[in-house]
Amino acid sequence: MKMNELKTFRPPFPIDASSDSGKTVLVAGGAGFIGSNLCHRLIAQGDRVICLDNMETGRFENLTSLLPRQNFAFILHDIVVPFELDGKVDRIYNLACPGSPPKYQRNPIHTFKTSILGGINLLELAERKSARILLSSTSEVYGDPDVSPQSELYRGLVNTIGPRACYDEGKRGAETLFHEMHEREGVDTRIARIFNTYGPRMDLEDGRVVSNFILQACTGTDLTVYGDGRQTRSFCYIDDMLDGLIKLMETEDQFGSIDDPVNLGNPEECTMLELAKIILEMTSSPSKLVYCELPVDDPRQRCPDITRAKALLGWSPQFPMREGLAPTIAYFRHELDLQQHVAENVG
Ligand code: NAD
Ligand code: UDP
Repeated sequence: MKMNELKTFRPPFPIDASSDSGKTVLVAGGAGFIGSNLCHRLIAQGDRVICLDNMETGRFENLTSLLPRQNFAFILHDIVVPFELDGKVDRIYNLACPGSPPKYQRNPIHTFKTSILGGINLLELAERKSARILLSSTSEVYGDPDVSPQSELYRGLVNTIGPRACYDEGKRGAETLFHEMHEREGVDTRIARIFNTYGPRMDLEDGRVVSNFILQACTGTDLTVYGDGRQTRSFCYIDDMLDGLIKLMETEDQFGSIDDPVNLGNPEECTMLELAKIILEMTSSPSKLVYCELPVDDPRQRCPDITRAKALLGWSPQFPMREGLAPTIAYFRHELDLQQHVAENVG
């Protein structure tokens, strides 16, 4: 396939990149929830950031304050299509892939291609640039687990042809690609198995449970509990996740196994009913619960065993759920106020 010419918001980078101490970091999927938070964090710590995104689920609002900065560049591009970048790249975070089930199921073939073809394109870029590359894999590689908590040694229980397969199997295949590119081509790889993460800069219409419940509670509509609400998840606050991702990226390989997958998540497990109750209480919302059909193949339980992350990275989450939900609810309220202000004053 031919390399694609890139449309860059600003050519990276007018300044002499070798004249300062920060790294040049490519964040694929940098306009999305985790990616945009990572861009902000990396810029704050003095790195040069190239954000590359096809805007499938990304939002420019997440990047507004970064766009005028000299050490930030935005490239509109789909990672499924091969591309080349000018100049040096030290680190590549591959966060490009819709993370919300209704969003990744909209175009399952493209979701699968994003993980596999997009993964290959970024790995080959990493090889050409001698850059270290991190894959945002997922707890979904464990499918509907019959073991809890899930350690990295658990091999999963995944349906290859269900509605979630385009995402789960795409990520499993991407892990294989990263592993083989490390073993055979010597690419410096990292694999983060991310568990459910939430926080500011989530899309209000994202469709995942935390954003749905907060939006519903703040607007006084019924909270949509799927199934009986007794299924569990373990929710990690974004600041903890960024710490984990950056530590995994920057930790040098001491034991010859840093390229193996590492679970990143908060082991504080709760049912969806418990989550609904906490959000109703924290928002003082009059909303009620409404029970809806459970989606096909919805995992019954999910809880990370983070022993490996603790030992390898010295990382464990610092934000209990209520402490992470407070700024998230404040963010949602601010966004809703803004929307209302625009509706009242524009058009
Ligand atoms: P998100 O949907 O908010 O962000 C994904 C970003 O990737 C968006 O900006 C989107 O436009 C972009 N993108 C999608 N396909 C692309 C493509 N083909 N080319 C270029 N850009 C593309 O999702 P998120 O929650 O920020 O998740 C980020 C990554 O972390 C994803 O890879 C996801 O699988 C993984 N992850 C997230 C969670 C979570 O709870 N948030 C859990 C496990 C794994
Ligand atoms: N869920 C829910 N109500 C919603 C959205 C999701 O009860 O409005 C449930 C969903 O069925 C699942 C859990 O919440 O059991 C987490 O769903 P989410 O889509 O956030 O993430 P994932 O299933 O990928 O972990």
